[in-house]
Amino acid sequence: MRSTQAFTKENYDKNREVIIYGATVYGEIAYWALEYIGIRPDYFCDRALGGDKKYGIQILSPQELTEHKDAIIILASFNYFYEIKENCKSYGCNEYYDMEYLLQLPLPEDKLSGRAKGRLHDINGYRNMLEHGQGEGRLNINHIDYVVCESCSLKCRDCSNLMQYYKHPEIVDIDKYEPAFARFLSVMDYISEIYILGGEPFLNKEIYKIMDRYHDHPKIGGITIFTNGTIIPDVLTIQSMRKSNVLVQISDYGLKQQKLRELGQVLLDNGVRYVVKKYENWTNLGGIKKRMYSAETLQKNYELCFWKKNYTMLRGKIHNCPRSAHGQNLCAFEAHGEEYVDFNDGTVSHEDLRIQMLKLIECKKYLTACEYCDGGDWNRESIPAAIQMGTKGDI
Ligand code: SF4
Repeated sequence: MRSTQAFTKENYDKNREVIIYGATVYGEIAYWALEYIGIRPDYFCDRALGGDKKYGIQILSPQELTEHKDAIIILASFNYFYEIKENCKSYGCNEYYDMEYLLQLPLPEDKLSGRAKGRLHDINGYRNMLEHGQGEGRLNINHIDYVVCESCSLKCRDCSNLMQYYKHPEIVDIDKYEPAFARFLSVMDYISEIYILGGEPFLNKEIYKIMDRYHDHPKIGGITIFTNGTIIPDVLTIQSMRKSNVLVQISDYGLKQQKLRELGQVLLDNGVRYVVKKYENWTNLGGIKKRMYSAETLQKNYELCFWKKNYTMLRGKIHNCPRSAHGQNLCAFEAHGEEYVDFNDGTVSHEDLRIQMLKLIECKKYLTACEYCDGGDWNRESIPAAIQMGTKGDI
C-alpha cells in the first residue's frame, strides 16, 4: 500500500537539485535532518510562501517545479502529503521521497520551533499515514478532533476553536454520541489518530470510555489527548491512558506551571506516555464576526489555510475544520449541508454516509465558516499564545 520510499543519503546525487516541498513544520524538520546528514537543499517549495526565503534558501511556488523536473524532492508535509505528491507528478517531477528516515534522526531541538518538536514525537502517526494511503476512493484520514467538552479551565482571548464564545459550555455526553462515532468508524477505512480535545478534555470525566473502547480498534492508529496541563485526571482516566498507542500532549503556555509539573509527575508515575509542547505564539484567526470578503478572497484563504481538513467531530457531526464545527454549534452561522456529515441519524445508509464523507474529504470549495475567519496561513499575524481574559462569552 505504501507508495513512497524514505529519503536517505543513498538517494542523494550531488549533480541534482534537492527541493524540500513544504516550507513550514515538516520543511523545518527536513532542513535540519538534511543538514545532519551533510546535505544543503537547493530550494524549498510551498504554495503559500513562494517568493520568500527560509534559512536563506529560495522558496519556489509549486508551478515553478516545472523548471526543476530532474530534482530530488522531499515531501515535507503530513496533512497534505498525498496532495503534494500528486502535484509533483502533475508538474513532471517524478523522484520524490517521504521523511520516515529523516524524522528519526537526532535533531537539534533547540533550533526547532515548538510545532516541529511536537511532530518529532509522532513517527507512528506518520508511518500510519504512509502505510494506509489516501485517495482513489479510500476513506483514510490522518486525524480527527473528537471534541469532548466546550468548557475550558483557561480563558484564552484568542482561542482559534472559539471556546471564548461559549456562554453556557457543556460537557459532551460520550455515551449519547457513541452510536454516531461507531457509525463514523464503520464507514471509514482508516484513521491514523484520534485527537481528544476540548476546551480542556480532562474536564470530561468520561473520556476513559473512548480509550477503553477504541485504543485497539483495527481502524485507529493511535489516540492523543491534548490538555492545557491545569487538571489532574482521575484514576479511571489515568488507567485508560496507560496504553502503548495513547499519548498525552501537554500544551505549555507558561501558565500554572506548578500544576503542569504535577500532571507530568502523575503521568510519569503511572506509566502514561506524554510530551510537553511549549507555545509562545498562535496564529490569529480573528473573532467570529462576518467579514465581507469576495468569493475570490475566500477561496484563496481556504486554499492556503492549514486548518482545513482538521476534521472535527462535535456532537456526532463531522466538519472540515474546528471553526466550522464550533461556529455552527454556537449558532454563529449555519454551515451548508455538504460542509459536514451528520452521523446522528441512524436511518441514513452506510453507503450514503460513505459518499458524504468522500465529498467532505474531497471538498475544494471554501466553507461558510471561512466568511467568519481571517484564515490560517503562515503569513497571518502571530500573537502571544493564551492571553487570559475576564468573563467568558463577553467578547
Ligand atoms: S479559513 Fe476556513 S478552513 Fe481555515 S480556519 Fe478559517 S474557517 Fe477554517
